[in-house]
Amino acid sequence: MAELVRVLILGGTSEAVALARRLASEPRLAVTTSLAGRTLAPTAPPGAVRRGGFGGAAGLAKYLYARRIDAVVDATHPYAARMSANAAAACGDAGVARLMLHRPPWPRRPEDRWIEVADGTAAATALPAHGRRVFLAIGRDGLAPFAARADTWFLARLIDPPTAPLPLARCEVIRGRGPFAVEDELALMRAHRIDVVVSKNSGGTATFAKIEAARTLGLPVVMIARPPPTPGESVATVDAAVAWVRNLIASCDA
Ligand code: NAP
Repeated sequence: MAELVRVLILGGTSEAVALARRLASEPRLAVTTSLAGRTLAPTAPPGAVRRGGFGGAAGLAKYLYARRIDAVVDATHPYAARMSANAAAACGDAGVARLMLHRPPWPRRPEDRWIEVADGTAAATALPAHGRRVFLAIGRDGLAPFAARADTWFLARLIDPPTAPLPLARCEVIRGRGPFAVEDELALMRAHRIDVVVSKNSGGTATFAKIEAARTLGLPVVMIARPPPTPGESVATVDAAVAWVRNLIASCDA
């Protein structure tokens, strides 16, 4: 009987869940999805799931070896740069095939009022020129640079309730998990008299509504740039990742 092909999906995105669903019906595959364990109730992918960090690149390399993993699909969020770098190093050390599945960024339209900045610190510095009532839609991590903006009121949207006070002098926390609808984002921004949005360029559809709402309202968006891409083979769609895994199975048979 042909050997099982073991694939580890590094998750934390809707694409990772979609990929696990697509691969669940492949008879030759044993798929495990790895989650960082940051959200309380993540969408559960089919197949085996593990949670929590590996202990850096060395820990991941050990895991790959111990579990006899044949391939890693890094389907982490485009801003999860440390995990992607660790995956590159660990797969290199362990001689394991690796593919990145990263959705493309949202393209900027001529009517968009984006202020593109390198990181959260640059975003916090840029804010006063654009407004004092800010929709901060970047998740739970990366809020620290905005602590310096005591002159600014923030509407911070998080998936889970915060376990400690946020490092923001003046803020209101709301909870929400995508996908979001444009009408709801418009209503939210109007109700809170938002005058500027801070966002990452995450790409995909689930969180795009805030960008479309800002466009409709003519609001500026301080857009935090993506980290530099991790070297290696990369695809932008779940279909392409499925094709890559199927090729891998075929090459294991050859
Ligand atoms: P990160 O800074 O790149 O990674 C920090 C550490 O978290 C990694 O070194 C690793 O710990 C652990 N980790 C991250 N992803 C993991 C995974 N899929 N499985 C096991 N351990 C993982 O990552 P992050 O930006 O904090 O993101 C954490 C998770 O949230 C990722 O899975 C990502 O896909 C998801 N996410 C991130 C964002 C974002 O804006 N950054 C948005 C939505 C979802 P060890 O070194 O101990 O292995």
